[in-house]
Amino acid sequence: MKGGCRRGDVSSVKTKRAYVIGSGPNGLSAAIELARAGIHTTVIETQAVIGGGAHSAELTLPGFIHDVCSAVHPLAIGSPVFQSYPLGEHGLHWIQPPLPLAHPLDSGDAGVVERSVDATVARLGAREPYRRLAKGFARDWSLLTDELLKPFKVPRRPLLLGRFGLHALRSASWEARKLFSTRRGQAVFAGLAAHSARPLESPGSAAVGWVLGLAAHAVGWPIPRGGSQQITNALASYFQSLGGSVVTGTRVRSLDELQNADAVLCDLGPREFLRIAREKLPADFARKLESFKLGPGAFKVDWALSGPVPWRNRECAQAGTVHLGGGLEDVIESERLPWEGVAARRPFVLFVQPSLFDETRAPPGKHVGWAYCHVPNGSTSDMTERIEEQVERFAPGFQKLILARQVLSPADFERYNPNYTGGDILGGAQTLRQMVFRPTRSLYRTPLKGVYLCSASTPPGGGVHGICGYHAAKLAQVEMEKS
Ligand SMILES: Cc1cc2nc3c(=O)[nH]c(=O)nc-3n(C[C@H](O)[C@H](O)[C@H](O)COP(=O)(O)OP(=O)(O)OC[C@H]3O[C@@H](n4cnc5c(N)ncnc54)[C@H](O)[C@@H]3O)c2cc1C
Repeated sequence: MKGGCRRGDVSSVKTKRAYVIGSGPNGLSAAIELARAGIHTTVIETQAVIGGGAHSAELTLPGFIHDVCSAVHPLAIGSPVFQSYPLGEHGLHWIQPPLPLAHPLDSGDAGVVERSVDATVARLGAREPYRRLAKGFARDWSLLTDELLKPFKVPRRPLLLGRFGLHALRSASWEARKLFSTRRGQAVFAGLAAHSARPLESPGSAAVGWVLGLAAHAVGWPIPRGGSQQITNALASYFQSLGGSVVTGTRVRSLDELQNADAVLCDLGPREFLRIAREKLPADFARKLESFKLGPGAFKVDWALSGPVPWRNRECAQAGTVHLGGGLEDVIESERLPWEGVAARRPFVLFVQPSLFDETRAPPGKHVGWAYCHVPNGSTSDMTERIEEQVERFAPGFQKLILARQVLSPADFERYNPNYTGGDILGGAQTLRQMVFRPTRSLYRTPLKGVYLCSASTPPGGGVHGICGYHAAKLAQVEMEKS
């Protein structure tokens, strides 16, 4: 596939030109799809370095490589779009930690998710419906993702999707209590669902819990060797091998700057899109974009550490990701408060420890730590101490290991990437309505001819998977063919 166009792909549009604004994973997958169709494609990125939400850097001390945003990638390794690219040939190497996930409790016990469904069922006290459904869904993972990760249409496998929907549409709190007989099982499911940044009592909040839990069984929760920048570098290298070009350090301020294009794909959230296109947009479309609901913000801390985290429960050292927040009720409260405008006193913390499994991430014997929690959108609360207290709670002695730290508040996130409005890192709230209609009912299409949205603010939403970019590019190709 390398360097070539797939047969049958829009030969009539070979001399066309496209621009992609933004080099996040969706911008790059959109660019790859256009380049694979023979369209002369340029990616324009405001930052000096490409990647958007998949970017790594020495944030603290020399030799400590931190993931600025995404760190763990079940959605990337499980993405049918990325699976169709030869990313291994372009330098991407996945590392699977022995355990995808651990969730310690104050008792010293920990819930763990293993690759094996049976082992996980036994460890978490999962009831029979979980075992049966998880086995079936994990086996049918590629069929299920094929249904879930495309824009909403008549399903090709209605029974499979219906079975999934029956569970996904429930609240995570209800599903956790129903499916697990142990405190650790309930806490694990709540933690999985908390990645959606939605209140866990709301309908549909179980969906992300199911998807991430199933992904752990079906494809694992891997980290890329060298950090998430390596996903970006592999995508960009493949894109360039197809003849595409990338321009960095250039912020597009108006669509007028790109007048000679047949298509412009915007890896932008609604607010940034409005900034560059407002005067051209019909007022009602602009209003719809303005009313797109944002999710909570993120507050993140990265650490350079003098040693591995001293987890009280030793199994936590086998897991790439550790969820810190206590039991089900604690996680529910922590995820509800940001929606009520309150920064939690004891926040649910997502913690990742990549250097335990990838020696390229820190000098010998030293480690990096990555953690964030949800806060109200635009919050100015400093959560550094509260996050560190949560790590200390399950790993006494952690704070003594800190050599240096870097903190990213919601405002810092927005400065780093204009898409992260108020620190919302998922491209908009994942409410039931916005999971389907993102950011408007027109999805990728805008009222402007040849201009499309392709960021995580379009279906299927947040995460490093490139699927939003793929669908937008396919739509652009079809419409270019017609014009
Ligand atoms: C703290 C954090 C943790 C996360 N953890 C994970 C994780 O572990 N796993 C996971 O799968 N996902 C994770 N995510 C989410 C994931 O990173 C995003 O959902 C994903 O990057 C979205 O990709 P995108 O291509 O839509 O947009 P982005 O990655 O946001 O890329 C958009 C790009 O457009 C550029 N841009 C914006 N405006 C302009 C302009 N006017 N001109 C030119 N360029 C512009 C930006 O600089 C950026 O590079 C995390 C995100 C954050 C912030």
